Amino acid sequence: MCLARNNMSGKVLLHICCGPCAVYPLKILKKQGYEVMGLYCNPNIHPLKEYLRRADSAEKAAKSLGIRIIRTDKEYDPQTFLRRMVFREEQRCLLCYQFRLERTRNMALKGGFDYFTSTLLFSKRQKHNLIRSVGESLGKEKCAFLYHDFRQGWREGRETADEMGLYKQVYCGCIYSEFERFGKELAGNNQGGNDSA
Ligand code: SF4
Repeated sequence: MCLARNNMSGKVLLHICCGPCAVYPLKILKKQGYEVMGLYCNPNIHPLKEYLRRADSAEKAAKSLGIRIIRTDKEYDPQTFLRRMVFREEQRCLLCYQFRLERTRNMALKGGFDYFTSTLLFSKRQKHNLIRSVGESLGKEKCAFLYHDFRQGWREGRETADEMGLYKQVYCGCIYSEFERFGKELAGNNQGGNDSA
């Protein structure tokens, strides 16, 4: 379902990937008249310290906007996440979106929410159309995927996140994306024949 311009009603469970991406979606959903609750569910994030840092920033954003947020820390399980990815790395973002949105949809169904959606739809760096199609494929009659192109509020959301002093990460989240971001730092260190452990 697409978020219309008119005021809407209903309960929405919003999957939150991090604080900066949460600001604008939370604001717009509240403005549209939805009853919103946040869900921080990101077992893809590596390492654990980074997961915790992003969780704190998501909580800070939600608190500033008066939204309750649930954290699924007990389900932080890198093994399960990585086992899904191994030998299918080229499809990893699809699998990662499915993993997080499926958990969100299941929690939304259990909690009696009318809709579920994700702050991943805010980021200009994510595969927007893929997120939309995964979300829509998971939607149920009782609990639909609420699509909105939150990227429209990119500048506003980023500026507000800066004003709030929210932590901004420099890579997407998984160990693969961390390597893509920082792997170049290995350049040169593999030369010189030092075999010491
Ligand atoms: S790059 Fe981002 S979306 Fe893709 S698998 Fe890694 S954490 Fe998930």
